[in-house]
Amino acid sequence: MNEIGHLIGGKRVAGTSGRFGNVFDPAVGEVTGKVAFAAEAEVDQAVANAKAAFQGWSATPVTRRARVMFRLKELIERDMEKLARLVSAEHGKTVEDAKGSVTRGLEVVEFACGIPQLLKGEISVQVATGVDITSVRYPLGVCAGITPFNFPAMVPLWMAPVAIATGNVFIHKPSEKVPSAALHLAELALEAGLPEGVWNVVNGDKVVVDRLLSHPDVAAVSFVGSTPIAEYVFKTGTANGKRVQALGGAKNHMIIMPDADMDQAVDALMGAGYGSAGERCMAVSVAVPVGEKTADVLIEKLAPKVRQLDIGPGTQPGAEMGPLVTKEHLDKVRSYVDLGLQEGAELVVDGRDFKMQGYENGFFIGGCLFDRVTTDMRIYKEEIFGPVLSVVRQPDFDSALKIINEHEYGNGTAIFTRDGDAARTFVNNVNVGMVGVNVPIPVPLAFHSFGGWKRSLFGDHHAYGPEGVRFYTRVKATTTRWPTGIRAGAEFIMPTMR
Ligand code: NAD
Repeated sequence: MNEIGHLIGGKRVAGTSGRFGNVFDPAVGEVTGKVAFAAEAEVDQAVANAKAAFQGWSATPVTRRARVMFRLKELIERDMEKLARLVSAEHGKTVEDAKGSVTRGLEVVEFACGIPQLLKGEISVQVATGVDITSVRYPLGVCAGITPFNFPAMVPLWMAPVAIATGNVFIHKPSEKVPSAALHLAELALEAGLPEGVWNVVNGDKVVVDRLLSHPDVAAVSFVGSTPIAEYVFKTGTANGKRVQALGGAKNHMIIMPDADMDQAVDALMGAGYGSAGERCMAVSVAVPVGEKTADVLIEKLAPKVRQLDIGPGTQPGAEMGPLVTKEHLDKVRSYVDLGLQEGAELVVDGRDFKMQGYENGFFIGGCLFDRVTTDMRIYKEEIFGPVLSVVRQPDFDSALKIINEHEYGNGTAIFTRDGDAARTFVNNVNVGMVGVNVPIPVPLAFHSFGGWKRSLFGDHHAYGPEGVRFYTRVKATTTRWPTGIRAGAEFIMPTMR
């Protein structure tokens, strides 16, 4: 049995708490590893190691910190296949999809290579006679990152490269369902020349999270996961005086206008609704065709494609969708499909009984498609996080926009249309953080920032990009008077008055 411990102070260490969780291969439904759940004392150890490393790392010239990022970029490229297979083996997504997600994380490392440019401060000269002011960003200290199961490498890479390049030290608590990719990333950073103790991985559950949220030496917490836990992490962390960004769940709508290229829209819905078995926070889970005719054509074109989805284990070449992550999650997704039928939605494609030949114990489910879903149904209101697409028919653009704006989540959304005016009105009026025009999953690239609105994000900063740099730093403004300035004797007015 593969025993998975922690990485603290630059070394792999076994867990000492005696508590473990099971890691599964979702395709076969078997336990492949045991991951250690850290006790509070192990978290304290990691924080102490990180704190000790902070002094040296924050004082390391920014050009050298950038060079570590350049080497890390090369090492992730070297190990791309290995990382993708680690992700696929514990999460279940296809290896090709996993490679795509690691690449999106790699892009954040590439962004962090530009840290000397990103950290350039501001200076105002001669704000008063002989007086200059500089505003410079400084790192915060020990930063924690808590990540979800669905992107075992990409989401940690949204955080660690920016936190570390800006001069912080980092403690990562991966999802207990997918711990291995995170450990490998931290080891690659060591190989890249990162000093021991700068990037630590502490595996575990709520015990670890709660200790990080209360530890006096943790300055900031980045969280990505479900909305209830995001809200809990935000409230607890900020109550303890920490800076917190907590990204939560989603229910992403895609409007299909009558003038849209229907084949393009259907292809987009297939990838965005069923890719990664719907286990993406940017998955499209609600299609909103405008007008009955648009809806009828959409269902007619979509249903056969959903039935024909190529489902298989993550390692199967050409598979479009793998299994779900755990048996519990499979049961939850199935129960939502049952619920949709009880609520009166029309189940056009029913994937509940899908069995994968040769993988009968795997956590597979087929694609599911509901038509005539209404906004009062729980399957509409709640995040299902599986390959279940709901079609909510709306009579016109205004009502389509209205239901999106009234939904509690506001992560991503898209409109498919050829009408520039409709697209522009949509972009300017939709209360959602990330918007696509004929792009179904509008994940911003690394040099922009990622984040939703409403209950999809708690906190003021989005993840990575310029917002990430701001989150992981604080500004110090220094006012300097040079000896050549006037000598005023004792001053009883503001120096800027001179
Ligand atoms: P989750 O909220 O169950 O877990 C996320 C992290 O929180 C894990 O590390 C987990 O160990 C920890 N955790 C779980 N329960 C906890 C508790 N009671 N107290 C403290 N910590 C706890 O989420 P998940 O199931 O791993 O991931 C799926 C969710 O993440 C979905 O809701 C998805 O939309 C969301 N997600 C959001 C984004 C985004 O950018 N907004 C990105 C990816 C995933």
